[in-house]
Amino acid sequence: METGRCPHVLFFPIPSQGHMNPMIKLAELLALTGIRITFLNTHHNHERLLKFTNMAAHFARYPAGFELRTITDGLPEDHPRSGHWFPEMFEDGPEMKIKQSLREMLVDIIPPVDCMIVDAFLGFALDVARELGIPIFCFRTSSPCCFWTSYSIPDMIQAGELPIKGSEDMDRLITTLPGMETHFRCRDLPSYCRATDMEDAFIKLLVKQTRKSAKANALILNTAEELDGPILSQIRTQCPNVYAIGPINAQLKSRNGELYHHFSNTLWEEDKTCISWLNKQSNRSVTYACFGSLTSMSREQLIELWYGLVNSNSKFLLVVRPDSVIGKDEGEDVDVVKELFDKSKDRGYIVDWAPQEAVLNHPAVGGFLTHSGWNSTLEAVVAGVPMICWPYFGDQQVNSWIVSEVWRIGLDMKDVCDRKMVEKMVNDVMVDRKEEFAKSAAELAKLTNQSVRVDGSSYCNLDRLIGDIREMSLKTPQKVIVS
Ligand code: UDP
Repeated sequence: METGRCPHVLFFPIPSQGHMNPMIKLAELLALTGIRITFLNTHHNHERLLKFTNMAAHFARYPAGFELRTITDGLPEDHPRSGHWFPEMFEDGPEMKIKQSLREMLVDIIPPVDCMIVDAFLGFALDVARELGIPIFCFRTSSPCCFWTSYSIPDMIQAGELPIKGSEDMDRLITTLPGMETHFRCRDLPSYCRATDMEDAFIKLLVKQTRKSAKANALILNTAEELDGPILSQIRTQCPNVYAIGPINAQLKSRNGELYHHFSNTLWEEDKTCISWLNKQSNRSVTYACFGSLTSMSREQLIELWYGLVNSNSKFLLVVRPDSVIGKDEGEDVDVVKELFDKSKDRGYIVDWAPQEAVLNHPAVGGFLTHSGWNSTLEAVVAGVPMICWPYFGDQQVNSWIVSEVWRIGLDMKDVCDRKMVEKMVNDVMVDRKEEFAKSAAELAKLTNQSVRVDGSSYCNLDRLIGDIREMSLKTPQKVIVS
Protein backbone atom coordinates (compact mmCIF):
# COMPACT_ATOMS: atom_id res chain seq x y z
CA MET A 1 0.00 0.00 0.00
CA GLU A 2 1.21 3.50 -0.81
CA THR A 3 1.87 5.77 2.11
CA GLY A 4 2.77 9.44 2.34
CA ARG A 5 1.29 10.22 -1.09
CA CYS A 6 -0.64 13.46 -1.05
CA PRO A 7 -4.18 13.16 -2.36
CA HIS A 8 -5.06 14.98 -5.57
CA VAL A 9 -8.49 16.65 -5.73
CA LEU A 10 -10.01 18.24 -8.82
CA PHE A 11 -12.47 21.11 -8.30
CA PHE A 12 -15.01 22.10 -10.93
CA PRO A 13 -17.36 25.02 -10.16
CA ILE A 14 -20.12 26.52 -12.29
CA PRO A 15 -18.63 29.64 -13.91
CA SER A 16 -20.50 32.21 -11.86
CA GLN A 17 -19.11 34.36 -9.05
CA GLY A 18 -21.43 33.00 -6.35
CA HIS A 19 -20.57 29.38 -7.19
CA MET A 20 -16.82 29.96 -7.67
CA ASN A 21 -16.25 31.89 -4.43
CA PRO A 22 -16.98 29.07 -1.96
CA MET A 23 -15.32 26.48 -4.23
CA ILE A 24 -12.06 28.45 -4.37
CA LYS A 25 -12.17 28.86 -0.60
CA LEU A 26 -12.76 25.15 -0.01
CA ALA A 27 -9.91 24.33 -2.42
CA GLU A 28 -7.64 26.61 -0.41
CA LEU A 29 -8.75 24.99 2.86
CA LEU A 30 -7.72 21.59 1.49
CA ALA A 31 -4.45 22.98 0.08
CA LEU A 32 -3.61 24.28 3.57
CA THR A 33 -3.54 20.68 4.77
CA GLY A 34 -1.15 19.54 2.04
CA ILE A 35 -3.70 18.24 -0.47
CA ARG A 36 -2.82 18.76 -4.14
CA ILE A 37 -5.44 20.79 -6.02
CA THR A 38 -6.36 21.13 -9.66
CA PHE A 39 -8.92 23.90 -10.04
CA LEU A 40 -10.92 24.07 -13.26
CA ASN A 41 -12.28 27.36 -14.57
CA THR A 42 -13.82 28.13 -17.91
CA HIS A 43 -11.43 29.91 -20.32
CA HIS A 44 -13.52 33.09 -20.05
CA ASN A 45 -13.49 33.28 -16.24
CA HIS A 46 -9.85 32.26 -16.02
CA GLU A 47 -8.88 35.29 -18.13
CA ARG A 48 -10.96 37.59 -15.92
CA LEU A 49 -9.52 36.18 -12.70
CA LEU A 50 -5.98 36.68 -14.00
CA LYS A 51 -6.87 40.25 -14.96
CA PHE A 52 -8.42 41.31 -11.65
CA THR A 53 -6.72 39.14 -9.01
CA ASN A 54 -3.31 37.80 -8.05
CA MET A 55 -4.76 34.29 -7.94
CA ALA A 56 -1.87 32.51 -9.68
CA ALA A 57 0.76 34.01 -7.32
CA HIS A 58 -1.47 33.49 -4.29
CA PHE A 59 -1.84 29.76 -4.87
CA ALA A 60 1.79 29.23 -5.86
CA ARG A 61 2.58 29.16 -2.12
CA TYR A 62 1.09 25.68 -1.64
CA PRO A 63 3.88 23.07 -1.73
CA ALA A 64 1.67 20.13 -2.73
CA GLY A 65 0.60 22.07 -5.82
CA PHE A 66 -2.38 24.23 -6.70
CA GLU A 67 -2.83 24.21 -10.45
CA LEU A 68 -5.31 26.40 -12.32
CA ARG A 69 -6.57 24.72 -15.48
CA THR A 70 -9.18 25.75 -18.00
CA ILE A 71 -12.08 23.99 -19.69
CA THR A 72 -14.64 25.02 -22.29
CA ASP A 73 -18.08 26.23 -21.21
CA GLY A 74 -19.41 24.79 -24.47
CA LEU A 75 -20.55 28.18 -25.82
CA PRO A 76 -19.20 30.11 -28.83
CA GLU A 77 -16.29 32.53 -28.30
CA ASP A 78 -18.39 35.60 -29.08
CA HIS A 79 -21.19 34.76 -26.59
CA PRO A 80 -21.56 37.84 -24.28
CA ARG A 81 -21.69 35.74 -21.03
CA SER A 82 -23.35 38.52 -19.14
CA GLY A 83 -26.09 38.39 -16.49
CA HIS A 84 -27.68 35.02 -15.73
CA TRP A 85 -26.22 33.15 -18.72
CA PHE A 86 -24.78 29.95 -17.26
CA PRO A 87 -27.94 27.73 -17.51
CA GLU A 88 -27.19 27.75 -21.27
CA MET A 89 -24.30 25.41 -20.48
CA PHE A 90 -26.83 22.69 -19.71
CA GLU A 91 -28.36 22.63 -23.17
CA ASP A 92 -27.54 19.41 -25.01
CA GLY A 93 -24.76 20.71 -27.31
CA PRO A 94 -22.70 22.69 -24.79
CA GLU A 95 -23.11 20.04 -22.09
CA MET A 96 -21.80 17.30 -24.40
CA LYS A 97 -18.72 19.40 -25.22
CA ILE A 98 -17.93 20.09 -21.56
CA LYS A 99 -18.48 16.46 -20.61
CA GLN A 100 -16.13 15.27 -23.33
CA SER A 101 -13.42 17.79 -22.35
CA LEU A 102 -13.72 16.79 -18.70
CA ARG A 103 -13.39 13.12 -19.55
CA GLU A 104 -10.30 13.73 -21.72
CA MET A 105 -8.70 15.81 -18.99
CA LEU A 106 -9.30 13.18 -16.31
CA VAL A 107 -7.88 10.45 -18.52
CA ASP A 108 -4.67 12.40 -19.19
CA ILE A 109 -4.06 14.19 -15.92
CA ILE A 110 -0.85 13.41 -14.00
CA PRO A 111 -0.82 12.56 -11.17
CA PRO A 112 -4.26 10.97 -11.47
CA VAL A 113 -7.13 12.50 -9.55
CA ASP A 114 -8.19 10.69 -6.34
CA CYS A 115 -11.44 12.50 -5.93
CA MET A 116 -13.52 15.28 -7.50
CA ILE A 117 -15.45 18.08 -5.82
CA VAL A 118 -17.89 19.52 -8.34
CA ASP A 119 -20.75 21.96 -8.29
CA ALA A 120 -23.93 20.06 -7.54
CA PHE A 121 -25.50 21.38 -10.76
CA LEU A 122 -22.90 19.62 -12.91
CA GLY A 123 -24.82 16.35 -13.00
CA PHE A 124 -22.89 15.12 -16.06
CA ALA A 125 -19.68 15.10 -13.97
CA LEU A 126 -21.23 12.28 -11.90
CA ASP A 127 -21.58 10.18 -15.07
CA VAL A 128 -17.94 10.81 -15.99
CA ALA A 129 -16.78 10.06 -12.43
CA ARG A 130 -18.71 6.76 -12.36
CA GLU A 131 -17.38 5.72 -15.74
CA LEU A 132 -13.77 6.38 -14.65
CA GLY A 133 -14.23 5.05 -11.11
CA ILE A 134 -13.36 8.36 -9.42
CA PRO A 135 -15.11 9.21 -6.13
CA ILE A 136 -17.12 12.41 -6.42
CA PHE A 137 -18.46 14.88 -3.87
CA CYS A 138 -21.11 17.42 -4.84
CA PHE A 139 -20.84 20.91 -3.40
CA ARG A 140 -24.21 22.66 -3.39
CA THR A 141 -23.24 26.31 -3.02
CA SER A 142 -26.76 27.71 -2.65
CA SER A 143 -28.70 27.43 0.61
CA PRO A 144 -29.64 24.07 2.17
CA CYS A 145 -33.28 25.26 2.33
CA CYS A 146 -33.16 25.77 -1.43
CA PHE A 147 -31.65 22.31 -1.91
CA TRP A 148 -34.35 20.77 0.24
CA THR A 149 -37.20 22.67 -1.43
CA SER A 150 -35.94 21.72 -4.90
CA TYR A 151 -35.52 18.11 -3.79
CA SER A 152 -39.10 18.11 -2.48
CA ILE A 153 -40.81 19.59 -5.57
CA PRO A 154 -42.20 16.18 -6.69
CA ASP A 155 -43.58 15.63 -3.16
CA MET A 156 -45.19 19.08 -3.13
CA ILE A 157 -46.79 18.34 -6.50
CA GLN A 158 -48.03 15.01 -5.13
CA ALA A 159 -49.49 16.76 -2.07
CA GLY A 160 -51.31 19.25 -4.31
CA GLU A 161 -49.29 22.25 -3.00
CA LEU A 162 -47.72 22.89 -6.41
CA PRO A 163 -48.24 24.29 -8.97
CA ILE A 164 -49.35 27.63 -7.62
CA LYS A 165 -52.44 28.60 -9.58
CA GLY A 166 -52.21 31.92 -11.43
CA SER A 167 -54.95 33.64 -9.43
CA GLU A 168 -53.91 32.21 -6.05
CA ASP A 169 -53.04 34.06 -2.86
CA MET A 170 -49.23 33.96 -2.61
CA ASP A 171 -49.58 34.10 1.19
CA ARG A 172 -51.03 30.56 1.25
CA LEU A 173 -48.93 28.51 3.66
CA ILE A 174 -46.94 25.51 2.43
CA THR A 175 -47.48 22.84 5.07
CA THR A 176 -45.98 19.63 3.69
CA LEU A 177 -42.29 20.59 3.63
CA PRO A 178 -40.73 18.95 6.70
CA GLY A 179 -38.31 21.21 8.59
CA MET A 180 -39.73 24.39 7.02
CA GLU A 181 -43.02 24.80 8.80
CA THR A 182 -42.38 28.33 10.21
CA HIS A 183 -44.88 30.49 8.35
CA PHE A 184 -43.57 29.35 4.96
CA ARG A 185 -45.69 30.88 2.19
CA CYS A 186 -45.94 30.25 -1.55
CA ARG A 187 -44.03 33.48 -2.11
CA ASP A 188 -41.13 32.14 0.00
CA LEU A 189 -40.48 29.20 -2.34
CA PRO A 190 -37.52 29.57 -4.72
CA SER A 191 -38.65 31.75 -7.64
CA TYR A 192 -38.87 28.88 -10.16
CA CYS A 193 -41.64 27.27 -8.06
CA ARG A 194 -43.88 30.14 -9.18
CA ALA A 195 -44.14 28.55 -12.65
CA THR A 196 -47.69 27.46 -13.38
CA ASP A 197 -46.43 24.48 -15.41
CA MET A 198 -44.45 21.93 -13.39
CA GLU A 199 -43.42 20.25 -16.65
CA ASP A 200 -41.33 23.36 -17.39
CA ALA A 201 -37.90 22.27 -18.71
CA PHE A 202 -35.93 24.33 -16.17
CA ILE A 203 -37.85 22.91 -13.19
CA LYS A 204 -37.39 19.38 -14.45
CA LEU A 205 -33.67 19.97 -14.91
CA LEU A 206 -33.39 21.43 -11.43
CA VAL A 207 -35.16 18.54 -9.75
CA LYS A 208 -33.12 16.04 -11.79
CA GLN A 209 -29.76 17.67 -10.89
CA THR A 210 -30.75 18.05 -7.23
CA ARG A 211 -31.80 14.43 -6.85
CA LYS A 212 -28.76 13.26 -8.80
CA SER A 213 -26.36 15.20 -6.58
CA ALA A 214 -27.83 13.40 -3.57
CA LYS A 215 -26.40 10.19 -5.09
CA ALA A 216 -22.78 11.38 -5.09
CA ASN A 217 -20.36 9.92 -2.53
CA ALA A 218 -21.26 12.88 -0.31
CA LEU A 219 -22.89 16.27 -0.31
CA ILE A 220 -21.00 19.36 0.87
CA LEU A 221 -23.01 22.35 2.10
CA ASN A 222 -21.92 25.88 2.90
CA THR A 223 -23.65 26.22 6.24
CA ALA A 224 -23.29 25.30 9.91
CA GLU A 225 -25.39 22.93 12.00
CA GLU A 226 -26.21 25.99 14.16
CA LEU A 227 -27.68 27.85 11.18
CA ASP A 228 -29.60 25.13 9.37
CA GLY A 229 -29.92 22.23 11.85
CA PRO A 230 -33.56 21.22 11.15
CA ILE A 231 -33.05 21.28 7.38
CA LEU A 232 -29.78 19.36 7.59
CA SER A 233 -31.63 16.62 9.53
CA GLN A 234 -34.17 16.41 6.70
CA ILE A 235 -31.50 16.37 3.99
CA ARG A 236 -29.68 13.56 5.83
CA THR A 237 -32.76 11.35 5.43
CA GLN A 238 -31.98 11.37 1.68
CA CYS A 239 -28.18 11.86 1.57
CA PRO A 240 -26.57 10.02 4.47
CA ASN A 241 -23.17 11.70 4.11
CA VAL A 242 -23.51 15.47 4.42
CA TYR A 243 -20.62 17.75 5.38
CA ALA A 244 -21.85 21.12 6.70
CA ILE A 245 -18.57 23.04 6.67
CA GLY A 246 -19.58 26.68 6.46
CA PRO A 247 -19.64 29.56 6.49
CA ILE A 248 -16.68 28.85 4.31
CA ASN A 249 -15.26 32.40 4.42
CA ALA A 250 -15.19 32.22 8.23
CA GLN A 251 -13.70 28.72 8.14
CA LEU A 252 -10.85 29.92 5.90
CA LYS A 253 -10.16 32.83 8.20
CA SER A 254 -10.23 30.61 11.28
CA ARG A 255 -7.86 27.98 9.79
CA ASN A 256 -5.36 30.60 8.62
CA GLY A 257 -5.23 32.22 12.06
CA GLU A 258 -2.73 35.05 12.28
CA LEU A 259 -1.63 34.45 8.70
CA TYR A 260 -5.03 35.32 7.26
CA HIS A 261 -5.19 38.10 4.77
CA HIS A 262 -8.25 38.42 2.58
CA PHE A 263 -7.65 37.25 -0.95
CA SER A 264 -9.92 38.58 -3.68
CA ASN A 265 -11.17 36.06 -6.22
CA THR A 266 -13.62 38.28 -7.99
CA LEU A 267 -14.46 38.62 -11.67
CA TRP A 268 -14.70 42.43 -11.49
CA GLU A 269 -12.13 44.93 -10.30
CA GLU A 270 -12.77 45.92 -6.68
CA ASP A 271 -13.11 49.65 -6.11
CA LYS A 272 -11.34 50.13 -2.77
CA THR A 273 -12.04 53.88 -2.66
CA CYS A 274 -15.29 53.00 -0.90
CA ILE A 275 -13.25 51.91 2.14
CA SER A 276 -11.70 55.39 2.37
CA TRP A 277 -15.23 56.83 2.15
CA LEU A 278 -16.44 54.44 4.89
CA ASN A 279 -13.48 55.49 7.07
CA LYS A 280 -14.99 58.97 7.20
CA GLN A 281 -18.44 57.80 8.39
CA SER A 282 -19.54 57.23 11.96
CA ASN A 283 -20.11 53.78 13.43
CA ARG A 284 -23.07 51.76 12.08
CA SER A 285 -24.38 54.76 10.14
CA VAL A 286 -24.18 53.38 6.59
CA THR A 287 -26.50 51.03 4.68
CA TYR A 288 -24.52 48.92 2.22
CA ALA A 289 -26.68 48.10 -0.83
CA CYS A 290 -25.44 45.44 -3.22
CA PHE A 291 -27.20 42.88 -5.41
CA GLY A 292 -24.55 40.29 -6.27
CA SER A 293 -23.06 39.23 -9.56
CA LEU A 294 -26.07 38.09 -11.62
CA THR A 295 -29.09 40.30 -10.96
CA SER A 296 -30.09 42.97 -13.42
CA MET A 297 -32.50 45.78 -12.69
CA SER A 298 -34.48 48.15 -14.86
CA ARG A 299 -33.74 51.85 -14.86
CA GLU A 300 -37.03 52.31 -12.95
CA GLN A 301 -36.02 49.79 -10.25
CA LEU A 302 -32.66 51.51 -9.80
CA ILE A 303 -34.39 54.86 -9.38
CA GLU A 304 -36.88 53.39 -6.83
CA LEU A 305 -33.95 51.93 -4.90
CA TRP A 306 -32.05 55.20 -5.00
CA TYR A 307 -35.05 57.28 -3.84
CA GLY A 308 -35.69 54.81 -1.01
CA LEU A 309 -32.08 55.20 0.15
CA VAL A 310 -31.94 58.97 -0.27
CA ASN A 311 -35.26 59.47 1.56
CA SER A 312 -34.20 57.24 4.46
CA ASN A 313 -32.34 58.51 7.51
CA SER A 314 -29.18 56.60 6.67
CA LYS A 315 -26.11 57.19 4.53
CA PHE A 316 -25.50 54.56 1.89
CA LEU A 317 -22.86 52.77 -0.13
CA LEU A 318 -24.43 51.46 -3.35
CA VAL A 319 -22.92 48.97 -5.80
CA VAL A 320 -24.16 49.17 -9.39
CA ARG A 321 -22.40 46.54 -11.51
CA PRO A 322 -21.56 47.89 -14.99
CA ASP A 323 -23.72 45.35 -16.86
CA SER A 324 -26.59 45.31 -14.37
CA VAL A 325 -28.91 48.14 -15.43
CA ILE A 326 -31.11 47.12 -18.33
CA GLY A 327 -31.54 49.79 -20.97
CA LYS A 328 -29.35 52.12 -18.90
CA ASP A 329 -28.24 54.48 -21.61
CA GLU A 330 -30.81 53.82 -24.32
CA GLY A 331 -31.82 57.12 -25.86
CA GLU A 332 -30.18 58.96 -22.94
CA ASP A 333 -27.39 61.45 -23.12
CA VAL A 334 -26.66 61.11 -19.44
CA ASP A 335 -25.38 58.03 -17.64
CA VAL A 336 -28.11 57.35 -15.06
CA VAL A 337 -25.65 56.03 -12.45
CA LYS A 338 -23.40 59.07 -12.75
CA GLU A 339 -26.44 61.33 -12.54
CA LEU A 340 -27.63 59.64 -9.32
CA PHE A 341 -24.13 59.82 -7.90
CA ASP A 342 -23.88 63.54 -8.58
CA LYS A 343 -27.28 64.17 -6.99
CA SER A 344 -26.53 62.32 -3.75
CA LYS A 345 -22.82 63.01 -3.17
CA ASP A 346 -23.45 64.23 0.38
CA ARG A 347 -25.53 61.15 1.33
CA GLY A 348 -23.96 58.25 -0.45
CA TYR A 349 -21.19 56.70 -2.50
CA ILE A 350 -21.61 54.53 -5.61
CA VAL A 351 -19.14 51.99 -6.98
CA ASP A 352 -19.14 49.36 -9.76
CA TRP A 353 -17.95 46.51 -7.54
CA ALA A 354 -16.94 46.51 -3.87
CA PRO A 355 -14.56 44.45 -1.70
CA GLN A 356 -17.71 43.06 -0.06
CA GLU A 357 -16.28 41.18 2.90
CA ALA A 358 -14.16 44.18 3.92
CA VAL A 359 -17.20 46.44 3.56
CA LEU A 360 -19.44 44.21 5.67
CA ASN A 361 -16.79 44.05 8.39
CA HIS A 362 -16.25 47.83 8.41
CA PRO A 363 -17.49 49.48 11.64
CA ALA A 364 -19.35 52.18 9.67
CA VAL A 365 -21.73 49.62 8.13
CA GLY A 366 -24.92 49.08 10.12
CA GLY A 367 -27.19 47.31 7.62
CA PHE A 368 -27.06 45.42 4.34
CA LEU A 369 -29.68 45.91 1.65
CA THR A 370 -29.14 42.69 -0.26
CA HIS A 371 -30.56 40.51 -3.06
CA SER A 372 -30.15 37.60 -0.58
CA GLY A 373 -27.65 35.54 -2.55
CA TRP A 374 -26.41 32.77 -0.26
CA ASN A 375 -22.78 33.96 -0.08
CA SER A 376 -23.83 37.52 0.65
CA THR A 377 -26.25 36.27 3.32
CA LEU A 378 -23.57 34.20 5.06
CA GLU A 379 -20.98 36.98 4.79
CA ALA A 380 -23.43 39.31 6.58
CA VAL A 381 -24.22 36.65 9.23
CA VAL A 382 -20.50 36.21 9.98
CA ALA A 383 -19.98 39.99 10.18
CA GLY A 384 -23.07 40.40 12.41
CA VAL A 385 -24.77 42.84 10.03
CA PRO A 386 -28.62 42.90 9.94
CA MET A 387 -30.19 42.60 6.51
CA ILE A 388 -32.93 44.25 4.47
CA CYS A 389 -33.82 41.74 1.77
CA TRP A 390 -34.86 42.54 -1.79
CA PRO A 391 -34.76 39.08 -3.38
CA TYR A 392 -34.78 38.68 -7.18
CA PHE A 393 -34.69 35.03 -8.21
CA GLY A 394 -33.54 31.45 -7.54
CA ASP A 395 -32.81 30.67 -3.88
CA GLN A 396 -33.03 34.37 -2.93
CA GLN A 397 -36.77 34.17 -2.07
CA VAL A 398 -36.15 31.35 0.39
CA ASN A 399 -32.98 32.93 1.81
CA SER A 400 -34.81 36.16 2.65
CA TRP A 401 -37.43 34.04 4.46
CA ILE A 402 -34.67 32.46 6.60
CA VAL A 403 -33.23 35.88 7.45
CA SER A 404 -36.55 37.36 8.51
CA GLU A 405 -38.59 34.41 9.82
CA VAL A 406 -36.06 31.87 11.09
CA TRP A 407 -32.99 33.82 12.21
CA ARG A 408 -34.89 37.10 12.72
CA ILE A 409 -31.90 39.26 11.83
CA GLY A 410 -33.58 41.45 9.26
CA LEU A 411 -36.61 42.29 7.16
CA ASP A 412 -37.90 40.89 3.88
CA MET A 413 -39.55 43.18 1.31
CA LYS A 414 -40.13 40.52 -1.33
CA ASP A 415 -42.69 41.34 -4.02
CA VAL A 416 -43.20 44.94 -2.78
CA CYS A 417 -39.92 46.62 -3.64
CA ASP A 418 -40.56 50.31 -4.19
CA ARG A 419 -39.11 53.54 -2.79
CA LYS A 420 -41.57 53.67 0.14
CA MET A 421 -40.79 50.12 1.22
CA VAL A 422 -37.01 50.65 0.89
CA GLU A 423 -37.23 53.85 2.96
CA LYS A 424 -39.39 52.20 5.63
CA MET A 425 -37.27 49.09 6.01
CA VAL A 426 -33.96 50.94 5.97
CA ASN A 427 -35.31 53.21 8.72
CA ASP A 428 -36.58 50.20 10.71
CA VAL A 429 -33.22 48.42 10.60
CA MET A 430 -30.95 51.48 10.82
CA VAL A 431 -32.93 53.67 13.22
CA ASP A 432 -36.25 52.59 14.79
CA ARG A 433 -35.39 48.95 15.65
CA LYS A 434 -31.61 49.35 15.36
CA GLU A 435 -30.65 47.89 18.74
CA GLU A 436 -33.05 44.92 18.43
CA PHE A 437 -31.63 43.85 15.05
CA ALA A 438 -28.03 44.62 16.02
CA LYS A 439 -28.43 42.37 19.08
CA SER A 440 -29.93 39.40 17.22
CA ALA A 441 -27.35 39.70 14.41
CA ALA A 442 -24.49 39.84 16.96
CA GLU A 443 -25.80 36.73 18.76
CA LEU A 444 -26.09 34.76 15.53
CA ALA A 445 -22.61 35.92 14.45
CA LYS A 446 -21.16 34.67 17.74
CA LEU A 447 -22.77 31.26 17.40
CA THR A 448 -21.78 30.97 13.75
CA ASN A 449 -18.18 32.02 14.31
CA GLN A 450 -17.88 29.45 17.12
CA SER A 451 -18.82 26.70 14.64
CA VAL A 452 -15.60 27.26 12.66
CA ARG A 453 -13.27 27.36 15.69
CA VAL A 454 -11.46 24.25 16.97
CA ASP A 455 -14.06 21.68 18.13
CA GLY A 456 -16.92 23.69 16.56
CA SER A 457 -19.39 21.76 14.38
CA SER A 458 -18.19 23.07 11.00
CA TYR A 459 -14.56 22.75 12.04
CA CYS A 460 -15.09 19.07 12.92
CA ASN A 461 -17.10 18.45 9.75
CA LEU A 462 -14.27 19.86 7.63
CA ASP A 463 -11.73 17.71 9.50
CA ARG A 464 -13.92 14.70 8.74
CA LEU A 465 -14.03 15.66 5.05
CA ILE A 466 -10.24 16.03 4.92
CA GLY A 467 -9.76 12.73 6.75
CA ASP A 468 -12.15 10.95 4.41
CA ILE A 469 -10.37 12.31 1.32
CA ARG A 470 -7.03 11.11 2.66
CA GLU A 471 -8.40 7.69 3.53
CA MET A 472 -10.12 7.42 0.17
CA SER A 473 -6.93 8.27 -1.71
CA LEU A 474 -5.07 5.48 0.07
CA LYS A 475 -7.79 2.90 -0.52
CA THR A 476 -8.56 3.80 -4.12
CA PRO A 477 -6.30 1.85 -6.44
CA GLN A 478 -4.82 4.07 -9.12
CA LYS A 479 -6.65 2.93 -12.20
CA VAL A 480 -5.08 2.45 -15.58
CA ILE A 481 -7.55 4.26 -17.75
CA VAL A 482 -7.88 3.36 -21.40
CA SER A 483 -9.08 6.30 -23.46
N1 UDP B 1 -19.35 40.40 -4.34
C1 UDP B 1 -18.26 41.21 -4.19
N2 UDP B 1 -18.40 42.53 -4.53
C2 UDP B 1 -19.56 43.06 -5.00
C3 UDP B 1 -20.66 42.20 -5.14
C4 UDP B 1 -20.53 40.88 -4.78
O1 UDP B 1 -17.18 40.77 -3.78
O2 UDP B 1 -19.61 44.27 -5.27
C5 UDP B 1 -19.21 38.96 -3.96
C6 UDP B 1 -19.89 38.69 -2.64
O3 UDP B 1 -19.00 38.93 -1.57
C7 UDP B 1 -20.34 37.24 -2.79
C8 UDP B 1 -20.48 37.04 -4.28
O4 UDP B 1 -19.86 38.15 -4.92
O5 UDP B 1 -19.32 36.38 -2.28
C9 UDP B 1 -21.93 36.99 -4.73
O6 UDP B 1 -22.48 35.76 -4.38
P1 UDP B 1 -23.97 35.63 -3.89
O7 UDP B 1 -24.21 34.18 -3.64
O8 UDP B 1 -24.26 36.54 -2.78
O9 UDP B 1 -24.85 36.13 -5.10
P2 UDP B 1 -24.87 35.81 -6.69
O10 UDP B 1 -23.89 36.72 -7.30
O11 UDP B 1 -24.54 34.36 -6.88
O12 UDP B 1 -26.28 36.15 -7.06
